[in-house]
Order: sequence, then structure tokens, then C-alpha cells
Amino acid sequence: MTFAQTHFYSLRMTANLQPSFFAEPGDAPALTPQLTPMMQQYWDLKNAHPECLLFFRMGDFYELFHDDAVKAAPVLDIALTKRGKDQGDDIAMCGVPVHSYEAYLPKLIRAGFRVAIAEQMENPQEAKARAKTQKGGKTLVTRQIIRIITPGTLTEDSFLDSARANYLAVLSESMGEFSVAWCDLVQGVPYVQSMPWNDVPTLLSRLNPAELVVSQKMMSAEDKREFLDAQKDIITYVAPVRYDSESAKRAALRQYSVTSLDSFGAFSKNETTALGVLLDYIALTQKQQVSLLLPPRMATVAGVVAIDAATRRNLELMQSLDGGRKGSLLATIDRTQTHAGARLLAEQLSAPLTELAAINERLSRIECFVQHDDWRDALRTMLKACPDLPRALTRLSLQRGSPRDLAIVRVALESATKLRFFLNQHAHELNADLKKLGMQLGEHSSLIDVLSRALKSELPFLARDGGFIAPNYNAQLDELVSLRDDSKKLIAGLQNKYVQQTKITTLKIRHNNVIGYHVEITPAQADKLLQPPFNQDFIHRQTLSSAVRFTTNELAELERKTSEAGDKALQIELQLFDELVQKVLANFDDLRVVAGAMAQLDVATALAEISVEQNWCKPVIDDSDAFDIKGGRHPVVEASLKVLNKNFIANDCDLSAASRLWLVTGPNMAGKSTFLRQNALLVVLAQMGSYVPAASAHIGIVDKLFSRVGAADDLARGRSTFMVEMIETAAILHQATAKSLVILDEIGRGTATFDGLSIAWGSLEYLYYQNKCRGLFATHYHELTVLKDQLPNLRCATAKVKEWENEIIFLHEVGEGIAECSYGLHVAQLAGLPAAVIARAGAILQQLESGKSVGQNKNTVIASAKPQDFTSRALRDKSAVDKAIDALNPDDYSPKEALEKLYALKSLAKQ
Ligand code: ATP
Repeated sequence: MTFAQTHFYSLRMTANLQPSFFAEPGDAPALTPQLTPMMQQYWDLKNAHPECLLFFRMGDFYELFHDDAVKAAPVLDIALTKRGKDQGDDIAMCGVPVHSYEAYLPKLIRAGFRVAIAEQMENPQEAKARAKTQKGGKTLVTRQIIRIITPGTLTEDSFLDSARANYLAVLSESMGEFSVAWCDLVQGVPYVQSMPWNDVPTLLSRLNPAELVVSQKMMSAEDKREFLDAQKDIITYVAPVRYDSESAKRAALRQYSVTSLDSFGAFSKNETTALGVLLDYIALTQKQQVSLLLPPRMATVAGVVAIDAATRRNLELMQSLDGGRKGSLLATIDRTQTHAGARLLAEQLSAPLTELAAINERLSRIECFVQHDDWRDALRTMLKACPDLPRALTRLSLQRGSPRDLAIVRVALESATKLRFFLNQHAHELNADLKKLGMQLGEHSSLIDVLSRALKSELPFLARDGGFIAPNYNAQLDELVSLRDDSKKLIAGLQNKYVQQTKITTLKIRHNNVIGYHVEITPAQADKLLQPPFNQDFIHRQTLSSAVRFTTNELAELERKTSEAGDKALQIELQLFDELVQKVLANFDDLRVVAGAMAQLDVATALAEISVEQNWCKPVIDDSDAFDIKGGRHPVVEASLKVLNKNFIANDCDLSAASRLWLVTGPNMAGKSTFLRQNALLVVLAQMGSYVPAASAHIGIVDKLFSRVGAADDLARGRSTFMVEMIETAAILHQATAKSLVILDEIGRGTATFDGLSIAWGSLEYLYYQNKCRGLFATHYHELTVLKDQLPNLRCATAKVKEWENEIIFLHEVGEGIAECSYGLHVAQLAGLPAAVIARAGAILQQLESGKSVGQNKNTVIASAKPQDFTSRALRDKSAVDKAIDALNPDDYSPKEALEKLYALKSLAKQ
């Protein structure tokens, strides 16, 4: 049993996306006389990774057998067939072509499967040759698992979202200390961070990992149940022994070939374990020590604004509430030109900074490109031509690269050269930071030169097919290629010669994999070649119903030369490919720096672009308690209004010390939620180092951002709307500091009026006296506004409306004041509630309000109300028939007309 067998299992396997218990190794049959050697080899490999679907390479296909085939076929929508028998039972089988398997894998990964690729390590001829030289050697082709494909360790473009990092994360716990280690293989930097349990979900919501590795031991922790359930789609459970601190540490030391991790930082024992498990998992899935990984870095909570999962969701930072990218802040502001830039933008947006210097550095880059339209345009045009260098580098370094990846390196370096040249030209006007970025773009002319000379302009997807090295790059290759191609010409000449000799005009020289090159004629003409004199040269090989086939010595000789030349040419091409890959990898670290610099330039110019396009301003960020926004706008709502040709109304917001908490009242639909969110988004944008949609903005660094907007049932987790609301509110009240910004929108809404009002009241006072944070508190409980006389730094603001000819016009202006009423009925009417219900609600409201004015208790008013019977025709919403009847005027009709009206009514009633 291998180490992997004993220690690594995923519990996500057997049922799609449902963590479930794995099959123990040993499920596979032991060697039995009935198993063919190939099936035994299959089981040996399958048994090493029972948690994975095994893609078993057989010639041009990856085949799946037994249960794997039964599970995969419906997901892949391919036919389930059978191949031979295993102990009397049919062996289920399905397969996908090797050349297109990448198209199938994402379906399986998305369905929660993991896939082990068992590759042929030699071809049948090599296997035969090997068997001859070994005593008792087997002619069965050797196969090995070369890679395990899991969601967190993907590198193929076809699997990945080009605009998002793909993180693998590991969670480790030791004596109440929680450490998370994570890495995006493309970035290649493993990070480690420790935190109390409460902060783990916040960090994970920021990273949004594709896969989270957790010890099986944690499954029994009842207090983690809810968390584990919420993450179940991405969790891979591994055996606790993998978390053994000593072996995890050894894995980390092995990765970096060091005897101590101290030179990288002071990692605690639990951090080392998390890191070790991460590195070990990567090595295990990649089936190799991954050399591209950079030294681990200690990530700190400090430096990044804490934004919990609920806040991220509510603010729709990376995805909108429906789960898509469209409608999110990220999608709205993304003007990047490259995939790497898009990923960096997403990373920066999900982790706004708290360090002034770093924020200001990013801001001044944008400022430079805002001030120089021509520079911005020029750089963006150059960036547009730049392909995804980081992902190509990753594939090359994992020996998974293709000739196209080499071309990507070349084209990206050409872009880098142009960018550097441009920045150099303007060096005297650039600040030190931008000059540094320019330097990082480096000088790579010799690599560009080699790659340009070596590669053809049209490249195959896979190196193993050959045909990618350009003429004149390698003399020996050129010679072989021309021999190979000349042979083709010679074969055509030979065909001509045979046609003339035999006078059989339909004679063809063809090729197939079984008998190679052969002369083919129709059966009607076969006799001619089977008789003297032709039978001396033409040797009969095959008779088919439609053709008779022959070979000749000349043809066999030509074929030998052709295929030898072809084989040798391919061999040389593959060798040259390896050499080129090595040349690229020799510059790996530099190239990563180049890719990083280009992504940063892309983000800076993209943010400058949107700032100019949308008239954003540079925020003033400092360590004060200020929060003074003039003319702030919600970028996403503004963009959606623009499509409708409507204007967004800008609003001010001053949460500085003397008015640090705002109580916002206003009618439904007046723009309260939009106003609240826009101020939170301004913080996110400003602290990620971006310009902001406002006329001016002065923001004292915010350490934590909380937003509780609207209520959503989380029934999947067994929580009601109100429970969710209270859990999220509790988290805010426990965690907000004087440096935090808190947005609370209608808390206490999901319960009885007085309960809700009391909770809102208590929370508001707590925020004011205890948290002392800056905050916006929107509510329909107008009663709360009495607090303005008791809490000196509380301001009352309202989203204004205007009544005009019985209509209500939403002005979307937020200003000092208190809303007079909620106009809820008006909004209900706009939403299309039946007119009878609106009329009835209006009457009740009037009773309640007049009762209140004469000091009547609401229960007395309610008790006195009689139920309304909506079946009475007077109240019912009028149907087409009702309306037609109302329009009738029987006195005016002749008998004939009256009859016609009756028929018309009858047919209306049928509709
Ligand atoms: P409710 O109390 O019903 O939740 P609300 O007061 O929170 O409503 P919003 O949801 O913020 O209102 O806004 C309602 C709609 O008004 C938005 O979808 C948007 O189209 C429009 N709107 C909001 N703010 C503005 C603005 N400043 N300028 C223009 N239109 C706006």
C-alpha cells in the first residue's frame, strides 16, 4: 500500500458534491487468475487512488472502467459500453479521446469528482523492446499516474476563470489556534496566516478558494458543523495523519531543500503544519515536487480591511446576489486589458488595504495615467496584445506546456519590451514607483529572438504532434523534414509510374496504420496484377470487397525512409521543445516579475480609464476619523441607470466625529439602501487604492467594514430570515471598532413591530456608545428619530420625495431631516398589488392613524375592524367581462343589438 493510499482520501467522491465516506483501499480485487494483466495493472493504479476517477490511457483514448465509467458517462453525456468480463461480469467502460480530454474534465471537476490520469509511459514497440532485454519482462505497456486533477490545483485555461485566482487552501487547527495556508499555483506564493476561529470564515470569504483541504478529524467537531456544511462543495477531507506536524514540516523542508524554515519567517508549529499539508498536497496531486513555488510568506490580518462574508455578499463586491459576476462592483469597474490584470484587480478589490503608504502608491499611479490620456491610451493598446503569461509559465514549469505556451511567452515579452520602451521614453516625468515598474519589465531580447526564430506562426496544441519548429532553426531538422516531405513527393511519383506501367488509371497508393503504404486497385482489375509480368513486382497483401491491395519492394523501402525521417524529425522537435522550455524556465523568476509588472500597469491604467470615463476623483486618505463624501455615487446603480438613460443623483455624506452615526429614514424606494451601500463601496474603492465615484472624498482609514443590507433566508443552513439577520447583527456589534464603518439597513425588520423596533433601538445605542464607529443606520421605525435629542453625534437624514398631483416623486436626495411617512402603499401600488387590496389597506391605515391621534391603542383599532369580503363585485378587481357589463347601456339597444352584445359577452367570458 502506498503512502498516498494510506493517507490521502477525498470524501467528496462517491456522490456528487456531497462529502461522503470513501471506499477503503483494497476494494479492488486482489490478483486473481481471471484478471488479464492489463486489468490487473488497472486495478493496481485505481487502488492507489480509490477517491479518483481513473483516466486509463489506452492508445488514443482515456478509458474509464467499472463504477468510474458508470458514474462518469452520464456527467460527460457519453455512451456507456462494455469491454470483456471480470469474473464473469461485464466490465462497464466509457472513454474520451486523448486529444480532446480537456474539454471533458471541467464537467467532472464541477460535478465534484477528482480525476487521476494514468498515462502510457512507453509505446507498444518500446514495451516489446524493453521486455526482450529484461528477464521475465512484460510486454504490457507501463502506465503511471502522472497527475491528480482537483479543483484547487488546476492550471489549464479551459478549466479556469481567466479573471479570478484559483486558490487551494488548507485549514489546520492545533490547541485552539487556526492556521490557513493557501496558494494559487499560477502566482506560486504560498501564504500562511493564523487567526481565531471567528476570523476563519472572513479570510476564506476573501480568498474564495476553489478547494479547501481539511483534516477528517474536524468532521466530528460539532461547533464546526455549520461551517463545514457551508463549505461542503469545496472541501477535500484528508486523513489526520497527513496533519502530523513532523511529517508536514518535513514536506515543507523538502519543498525548499532547507533544514529550517526560519529564514522565511517565524512560523508557529500549526502554521508549519498548514504549510506542509499544502505543499504536500500540491506535490501529491502534481506527482512531482513543484519547483515553481516561491518561499512561503506570512500573511497578516493587519494591512487589509476586514470584510466578512455577509458584507461581501451584501455589497456584491465580486458577484451579485444571484451569484453571477454581472452586476457586481468588480464587473462594473473592470476595464483591464489582460487576464492577469483582471485577476489582480479582483484580488485588490477583495482585499482593500489599511496601510496609507501602499494605498497612496497605487493612487499616484492612477493619478499619473489620469493626467496623461495619451500615455494611458498607448499603454492600454500595448497591453491589449498581451496574452496570459503567468498561466503559460505555470503550465511550462509543470511540464504541461505546449508550443502555444512558448508563443505566449514570446508575445508577452514583446509587449513588455514595448511597454518598457514607452515608459523609458517618459522616464523623466515618471515617479520612482512607475520607474521601478518600468525596470521590472526587464530586457529579454535574446529569449524573444530564440523563440521567434524557433517557432512557426501557426502552432499545434500539443508538442507531441510536432510541426511547430520553424524552418531554418535547426539544420538537421530541416534535412529530415525535407526528406520526409520529399518522400511524399516520391510516393506520388511512384503512383504515376505504376499507373503508366499497368495502365490502371484508378491505381492509388494509400496508407493505413495496419499495412502502411500500399497499392490499391479495384477487384475488377486485380487479375492484371496477380498475373505475370506484374505479379513479380506487385505482392498481394489483402483482398477486400471494394479493393485489392499490394505492396512493392520499392514502396516498402520508401516507406521505411519516410517514417524514419518523420520519427527522427519528431524526436528532434521534441528535444528542441524541451530545450526551449528550459530556456524559458531558466528565466522563470524574472518572467514572473515581468508578468507582475504588466498586471500592475494594466490595473493602474484600467482604473485610470474608468476614473476619466466616469468622472471619479482621487480620494484623500489619512489616519483621521474623517468620512466626508461630497457628491458620492453608487457605481453599479449609476451604470445600470445610464443604460436606461437616467441620471444618478449624487449625495453627500459626512460621518466625521460630530455626526459619526446617521439615522436614515425615508419612503420605500427612495434610495436609502443605495445611499448606504455607495458609501461602503467608496471605502472599498478608496482603500484598494482606486479613485472613487464622488466629487470629493476624505476618508480616515477604515479597519473593518460591515454591511447588513436586506434580509435573505438561508434555508439551506436551516436559518430563518430573522435568525440570519440577528446572527449578522450580533457579529457586527461584537466586532466593530471606533475605526470601523458599519452599514445597517432596516435591522429588526423580520419580526413583530415592537420586537423589531426594540432591537433596532438597542443596537443603535450600542453602536453609538460601545462601538463608537462611523455608521449609517436606515430604518422604517420613525420612532427611533427621537434619539437625535439624546445622542449628540447622531444625525437624522432622510431620502426625500415630492408629492405632486397625487403622485409621489422620488428625488433620491439624501438630506438632513426625518421622513414623514413610508409611502409603503404607494410602492405596493406601483408593484401591482390588486387595487382592492390597496383600497382596503388604505382604509385600515387611516383607521390606525386616526386611532393613534385620538390616543387609541392599535389593538383596539384592529379589534374594531370588520373583515372585508373581496368576493363582493364592488370590491373585486374588475375583469374584462365586468368592465364590458359596466359599459352596457341596455336602453339604447335594438333587440338585434342586444342579442349581439349578449353573444359578445359570452365569447369574452370564454377567454
Ligand atoms: P426600500 O426601503 O424599499 O428598501 P430604498 O429606500 O432602500 O427602498 P433603494 O433600493 O436604495 O431604495 O432604491 C430604489 C431604486 O431607486 C434603485 O433601484 C434605483 O433605481 C433608484 N435610486 C436609488 N438611489 C438613486 C439615486 N441616488 N439616483 C437615482 N436613482 C436612484
